[in-house]
Amino acid sequence: MSGPRMTVVDCGPLTLDKAKLVTMAPGTVSIPTTVAIFDHPKHGVILWDTGCWEDVADPDGPGAYWGEGIKTAFGAEAFTRDMAINRRLDRLGIRTGDVKYVVYSHLHLDHAGGMSYFPNAVHVMQRDELRYALCPDPWIRPVYVQNDFRDLHRLNILEIDGDHDLFGDGTFQLIKAPGHAPGMQCLMVTLPQRGRFILGGDIAHQRDQYEAMIPMPWDYSCNLMSRSRNRIKQLERAGIEMFLCHEPGEFAALPGNGTWWE
Ligand SMILES: [Zn+2]
Repeated sequence: MSGPRMTVVDCGPLTLDKAKLVTMAPGTVSIPTTVAIFDHPKHGVILWDTGCWEDVADPDGPGAYWGEGIKTAFGAEAFTRDMAINRRLDRLGIRTGDVKYVVYSHLHLDHAGGMSYFPNAVHVMQRDELRYALCPDPWIRPVYVQNDFRDLHRLNILEIDGDHDLFGDGTFQLIKAPGHAPGMQCLMVTLPQRGRFILGGDIAHQRDQYEAMIPMPWDYSCNLMSRSRNRIKQLERAGIEMFLCHEPGEFAALPGNGTWWE
């Protein structure tokens, strides 16, 4: 291997009313939760998001990891322990201890769930997100699962505030994109052969929603969401492809099943 490369895995399949993702939308959807794995010759293994914690595979009920009723509400019945990021890495021959950086789009339950697998990594998140996740407004509490943050005070956190060039070489650029969450961010990557593209996180849950500027029921601020989407849309207009975390067709367009982009 000469340069960095990337593959993706699904660490949180969900089947739920589309209205839970896209305000007022009819029907039901089955979606992936995209976790990107970068293997970097200089900086080690870098993760973009971490999916759901393994105990989400347990039956819903009193004492459930996410809190009673939340697994059912988000339709995580298809999630198994084999889909958690530790097992996904294991099948790729990567040890959790090889992971040097964990970069979070935001800290909702389907993105920050795997945090505790990586006690020795640098955990990269927006300052606003970190602070808000630990003390969210009551209406949004179900998606910030405090169980996910149980080891947070022991981790090496790289708090960033705004756009950030992670390695100072323009190859991993974080773009702050608040709205869905106060500290949502997108990752603009440049790979040597594939070139530049954006992992959009939850800038929107679905592509039709993104195009039509429809909010999500759990958006922290629709005003900020509009501005952030406009910013990312301009980058797409300029020719940089963007992939949403939970859009099945976009997950399928990324390299998976043992294939990599270089
Ligand atoms: Zn999400």
